[in-house]
Amino acid sequence: MLSIDLTGKRALVAGVADDGGFGFAIAKALAEAGATVCVGTWPPALGIFQTLLRRGKLDTALAGGGALEFEKIYPFDAEYDTFDDVPADVRESKRYKEHGDVSIDGCVARLKSDFGEAPCLDVVVHSLANGPEVGRDLLATSRRGYLGAVGASAYSHVSMVQRLGPMVRPGGSFLSLSYMASERVIPGYGGGMSSAKAALESDTRVLAFEAGRAWGHRVNCISAGPLASRAASAIGKGEAGDDGKKPQSFVEQMIDYCKANSPLPEAITARDVAATVAFLASPLGAGITGSVIYVDKGFHTMGKAIA
Ligand code: NAD
Repeated sequence: MLSIDLTGKRALVAGVADDGGFGFAIAKALAEAGATVCVGTWPPALGIFQTLLRRGKLDTALAGGGALEFEKIYPFDAEYDTFDDVPADVRESKRYKEHGDVSIDGCVARLKSDFGEAPCLDVVVHSLANGPEVGRDLLATSRRGYLGAVGASAYSHVSMVQRLGPMVRPGGSFLSLSYMASERVIPGYGGGMSSAKAALESDTRVLAFEAGRAWGHRVNCISAGPLASRAASAIGKGEAGDDGKKPQSFVEQMIDYCKANSPLPEAITARDVAATVAFLASPLGAGITGSVIYVDKGFHTMGKAIA
């Protein structure tokens, strides 16, 4: 039987702080395929994440038996490449000061301290984004907001491949998550986030070439349909409907619109995306690199709205 088998592999999923987004579902799917999973969590969200875990609120059974367990939970801020890049006021702030070096280099150091100097990872997932001005039209976006979005959401991936590449065993797999706003106009997805996703997709191709030649790693990206995760739900309010009903949020509108207009008229699930990540990370995906794979029920193929 052909199956996704990640037995003996170790994954690092960056961007997990609750069970409502893609990162958690990806961690679960990788664990179900047999991998051990470490996660990287943004320090401002780490306290609540650990509390939820401690209270059993995120207890998750794995198909095939057992429960989801994280081998390590690292404080991780993808905006910083090295500890020197973390501004003093951030380092000393309440949510950061107990965690020490939360940079990407800091994560490499923690991996070495926990698992030794030799490469210890097989799969690295970038499931994070941040755009401080995401609710603003591009025409109203400041330079700071734009560069903040691109830095946190796209350069962070470049930096992760750069710095974690040597920590990944030959034949490893890097994955990131994009959104169709990279290539089509999606009003409401602003603040330079569309530009960040375009950069993420372009970088996928260049990094696939460079990391393939340097280490034999693969680099792919999934362009996912809309999901009401914590991050997406914070993007903003949509316009009120003519019927006087409570205005839908941006992501609720996009879910309904995609459901109504996709070849498969249903919402995507985090599980759809997670299963694709597990496949791409597995030996079954050995021939795929530099690709942006749509997991969106086919929505991207449509050229005309039908509803
Ligand atoms: P999510 O809220 O589950 O995940 C986003 C994570 O990013 C959070 O855990 C947050 O703490 C973390 N984060 C923010 N800034 C960070 C930083 N500087 N360093 C480290 N972590 C940071 O939401 P999600 O929607 O599952 O997002 C995961 C990925 O999926 C993102 O790249 C997002 O753009 C992408 N995506 C989401 C949708 C959607 O509709 N939800 C669609 C397509 C793509």
